[in-house]
Amino acid sequence: MITETLKVKTNQNSYKLHDFSNDDIGDDHLYTGLETPMRKDAFKISDSEKKEKIALLFEEIMHVMGLDLTDDSLKGTPERVAKMYIDEIFSGLNPANKPKIALFENKYQYKQMLVEKNITFYSNCEHHFVPIIGKAHVAYISSGKVIGLSKLNRIVQYYSKRPQVQERLTNQIAEDLKHILGTEDIAVIIDAKHLCVSSRGIQDDTSATVTSYYSGAFNKPEKIAELQNYLNN
Ligand SMILES: [Zn+2]
Repeated sequence: MITETLKVKTNQNSYKLHDFSNDDIGDDHLYTGLETPMRKDAFKISDSEKKEKIALLFEEIMHVMGLDLTDDSLKGTPERVAKMYIDEIFSGLNPANKPKIALFENKYQYKQMLVEKNITFYSNCEHHFVPIIGKAHVAYISSGKVIGLSKLNRIVQYYSKRPQVQERLTNQIAEDLKHILGTEDIAVIIDAKHLCVSSRGIQDDTSATVTSYYSGAFNKPEKIAELQNYLNN
């Protein structure tokens, strides 16, 4: 039977984080740092091994919930979920999937801010594993190099495809853009809806969460105002 083939560790929910227990934290979302917390051995097994394991574990979850896995509609679900986790919605955990970025000389000598706005992204809340859906707005001022516009979208997508908290997503995109573009002049604004807030828990369907990162020239109030002006148009 499934249960015997799996070594599922249980009772790990009561771990302590900065002296808070899971019960203290409840539904609140804590944010621990810039890096996605990954184990050192995260990539010791291949993607196909991961998919096999996840399919077995998800089958177990469905089985425990009492679902009949012989049903035609349900029996492919564990494999579908496993494939979706590794190849799609959590593919950004694997650095091998990081988009390849080519930079170009700023031949046009364009020295103003460039804003790529309304980049739609889908992520997942790392506390509940339900979707975060939102829009990212990214801006930079070239330090001599420019980036293909679609690459800005790709960087947003890459960091979205991880279990996330919105603060970390914002900072990861901004820090990577700083590094890639060799400039401090970066702004990232994210406006997102968390399904863990709207579809469950407090069930607030109208609230949204906004986070921002401003560095370099974007720390000046007039630059923020200019950016806001472009976003509002
Ligand atoms: Zn959540």
